[in-house]
Amino acid sequence: MKDLLNKAEARLPQMIEDLKTLVEIESPSDSPNAVNNLATYLSNRLDKLGVKAKEIPVENGGNVVVGRYGGEGKAIMVLGHMDTVWPLGTLAMRPIRIEGDKLFGPGSYDMKAGLVVAIHTLELLQALDKNPSHPLTFFFSSLEETDCEPYQGVLEQEALNCDYVLDLEPAWPGGAVKTERKGCANYVLNIRGRASHAGADLRKGISAITELAHQIEILNSFTDYERGTTVNVGVISGGIRPNVVADSARAEIDVRFCRLTDGRAIDSKIKALEPHLRGAELEIAGKIGMPPLERTEKVISLYQKAREVASKLGFELGEVSTGGVSEACITSALGIPTLDGLGADGDGAHAEYEHVLLPSLATRTALLAGLLLEL
Ligand SMILES: [Zn+2]
Repeated sequence: MKDLLNKAEARLPQMIEDLKTLVEIESPSDSPNAVNNLATYLSNRLDKLGVKAKEIPVENGGNVVVGRYGGEGKAIMVLGHMDTVWPLGTLAMRPIRIEGDKLFGPGSYDMKAGLVVAIHTLELLQALDKNPSHPLTFFFSSLEETDCEPYQGVLEQEALNCDYVLDLEPAWPGGAVKTERKGCANYVLNIRGRASHAGADLRKGISAITELAHQIEILNSFTDYERGTTVNVGVISGGIRPNVVADSARAEIDVRFCRLTDGRAIDSKIKALEPHLRGAELEIAGKIGMPPLERTEKVISLYQKAREVASKLGFELGEVSTGGVSEACITSALGIPTLDGLGADGDGAHAEYEHVLLPSLATRTALLAGLLLEL
């Protein structure tokens, strides 16, 4: 194992060059052509390593890259996304810079460094003449930051042919992997009341705003911190002027949950909301968007395996639970053991101080290589 780490460390200068190259190919989710440039670059890199890579078109997005390596049978999926939250031109305003051990650049930590780790892990294994325990499926997606739905079916189909999914999303700052992510659901509540003159005829009106206030209290009561279920009414609007009883009001609601069963329970409760004021009408639209990454026995034992590999490499691998969603939620909901946050260490995802801790490129490459050998 130590040999893996030494050899990975020797690759660090090349990994840094590759990271710069990937960051320089800007790839915002909403610029499909830009994402396609990166997809082509990566499928060429995979091809050179003997991975049969193809680009699959995605509606409203760049192509997804899917590559198969090794023989028949159930694979290990090496998962990552190519898109970033940064619009074209961000790089010109905030060029790549290296300060000490850190490389700053848009999309570096989330998650171009993870893609570098994926490529270099296979290169490293080949250089050492070692074969992964399973065939590999590389899946690099194109819309993770905005909406996975257009390619969710393709991801699920590939994942169902895998025994494990290893997601190279950035590590938690400090290096921990993610063994639990909350799922999320979003709703819009539209309330219809009846307008009237606030001075002359208040009683004739049905205030959609008052109704909304009642509904907000009810929605807030669904929050259960113990179970990790939260409901947030984050946006409200309603009414037109102070002297008119509001005939309409609207709320946007964000729900997070650790277990799919909890998410379904809240979903039914929200859809069953009843008006509090006589004559008010509620219209509720929305659904569960992303299932949670549940910290199941399967996830825990995969994490334990990764911990063992890390310990042989000489470091402690921690785990965290987080509120944000990722593609790991999709694959784990299929019952496939999934470990998330195996990418580079650093900090500042989606923020201007986004950066990668460069030495972690080597440790994460050794970790992934070790896992691919031992799983
Ligand atoms: Zn990400």
